[in-house]
Order: sequence, then structure tokens, then C-alpha cells
Amino acid sequence: MTRLMLHVCCGPCASATIPFWRQRGVDPVGLFFNPNIHPLLEYRRRLTGAHEVADMSRVELVTDEAYDPEVWFGSVAGEAGTRCSRCIGLRLERTAREAVALDCDAFSTTLAISPWQDHEAIATEGAQAAERHGVEFAYEDLRPLYRESRRLSREWGIYRQKYCGCLVSEWERYRGS
Ligand code: SF4
Repeated sequence: MTRLMLHVCCGPCASATIPFWRQRGVDPVGLFFNPNIHPLLEYRRRLTGAHEVADMSRVELVTDEAYDPEVWFGSVAGEAGTRCSRCIGLRLERTAREAVALDCDAFSTTLAISPWQDHEAIATEGAQAAERHGVEFAYEDLRPLYRESRRLSREWGIYRQKYCGCLVSEWERYRGS
């Protein structure tokens, strides 16, 4: 059975992604590495939700104990318009590294279920990280499962965030209102 290192961005996105991979005969191991989530209390809420879904789905969840938004700010600074692809790239880079360290055959991300994410960036950054680390990146467009993830997270009482993660995305909620 293929062992898959699955980057988990939050509980709701993991809820329907885990069964998708299992139905394909894949054994997922979760990784919560998201220094893009601000502020700290929001990070903790999403981490709790990810643990709850992992427990209910009986999936091991590796967590990043060294939450460090300073590293994230340093990584996304650069050319205008590249913030999201750098942010996704940072997280997929770490996931690829963990996949190799934990003897996984491939890696992927729950970001692929969200209609709000840049899927071109996910596919490109994943492929680049795969090449750097010599491990396969499994990209699937899981957007058709997004409604199911909302249903499951409501049913299971999992915290659902109102913005992507960083301070800029939090501000974008109110921009123009
Ligand atoms: S909007 Fe989301 S993907 Fe883009 S930089 Fe912020 S947290 Fe990362």
C-alpha cells in the first residue's frame, strides 16, 4: 500500500481528503505545518481541529512544534503577486522533506480540496519540491469534494476558519466592505 505524507492545512479540508485517498488504497500520514496562520490563537484553533479530524479518521498526525511566523514572513517576501505560491511552496517543501524522512512513497496536500486556493501554484510548487527531494507529488483536483468537507466538518463540530491564514488574507475579508 502506498504511504502518503499528507500536508494538512486544517481539519475541515482533511475531513474529506483522507477518505478520498483511502478509497484509492493509500495510507495517509498527516503533517500539520502551517506557519502562515496568524495570529497564534487562530493557529491553535486550527491545530485542534486538525487533531480532532485525525483522531476521528484514525490517522497519525505529525505536528510542527516550532510554530514560527517570522520564518514565514521571510519566505514570502519578494516579488509582488508571488506571496501565495511562496507560501504554498514553503509548506510543500517541508512536506516533501518529511515524506522522505518518514519513508513515504509520495506526498500531497489538503489544500487541493479548496476552491479558494491557487491550484496552479499547488501543482507547480509540489512538482518542484518533489524533484528536489526525489519523492512523488500526488496532485488531484479535489474541489468537487469541497461541499462534502463542509458537511463533514459541520457534522463533526470542527472549527471552520473564515480566512485563508495570513494577516493579509484576514484583511482581505473586509477589503471593499
Ligand atoms: S492567502 Fe493563504 S496561501 Fe496566500 S499567503 Fe496568505 S495564507 Fe498563504
